[in-house]
Amino acid sequence: MQMKKLKLPLLFLGIFYSIAIWRYLATGKAFYLVNFGYIGTALALGIFLFDALPREKFGLARRLSQVLIGAYMLGYVGLVGGENMQIEGFWFYLFSGVFAGATLHYFIAKIAGPFVFSRGWCGWACWTAMFLDLLPWKKPARPTSKPWMRLRYLHFFMILAAAVYIFFVLGDRSAAGDRSVELAWLLAGNVAYYAVGLSLAAILKDNRAFCKYLCPIAVFMKVGARFSLMKIRIDADKCVDCKLCEKSCPMQVPITAYKDRGGRVASTECVLCFTCTKVCPQMALDLSSRPGRCGLTRRGGR
Ligand code: SF4
Ligand code: SF4
Repeated sequence: MQMKKLKLPLLFLGIFYSIAIWRYLATGKAFYLVNFGYIGTALALGIFLFDALPREKFGLARRLSQVLIGAYMLGYVGLVGGENMQIEGFWFYLFSGVFAGATLHYFIAKIAGPFVFSRGWCGWACWTAMFLDLLPWKKPARPTSKPWMRLRYLHFFMILAAAVYIFFVLGDRSAAGDRSVELAWLLAGNVAYYAVGLSLAAILKDNRAFCKYLCPIAVFMKVGARFSLMKIRIDADKCVDCKLCEKSCPMQVPITAYKDRGGRVASTECVLCFTCTKVCPQMALDLSSRPGRCGLTRRGGR
């Protein structure tokens, strides 16, 4: 077994097991050991299999992590535990001063985490994308519309405004204290996301259309993703400009545009799915892990 193949899975195991122990020592709750231990193991397993499986089956590895983590977060923590893991829940818990699972989840996966693993959450663990990635439009049929991508920001601020209004103006605190109300918010939010996500994918022939145009979570994540330690890197000496990577990229990242900019694919749209690294016939793409500001000098990319 090559050590290189184990490096990334072991790194993620280390990160998540450290968080598990930190939260356990801080709170005395064994739940954190199970929760973060499980998520770290599911992620590490998927990353390991991504390299270990035969080339034509690499997509199954990421699917496995998505299902293991997405179903656990939505099914167990959300539906069984009655915690609203949607973004509305995050705001309500934050306003109430309740340090619930949703608060910690947002902090680790969507606010601090992207400084390390970019938008890896979107590629490997999101419970909305868990279904969207099963649809048949893996290679988008048309170019991404940049103006329409701004809808995500509108969505984000509309949700924030609604949460502020409900919590502070109406004085309704039930969304962060009454389990049945939290559950109702969770169900309503997810039904809406799935309905819109599936419809957009079918209309635009693009599995990830919801991620590109409407998902408010991306607004959080793009901040850290810009400075992320982990990025895809393109080797300009190996690349023959066949564009197979760009044609296979579910997020339509203009990968080759970064060849002359140090090779790091700075785009904050990249969800680190690693599909491009597998389809490149020249093996010109790899994961780069080094600190630094990314994307601030880019031209033409996103
Ligand atoms: S698939 Fe590889 S060789 Fe082709 S354009 Fe992309 S990086 Fe270059
Ligand atoms: S650039 Fe590569 S790793 Fe990033 S989203 Fe596109 S295919 Fe996935």
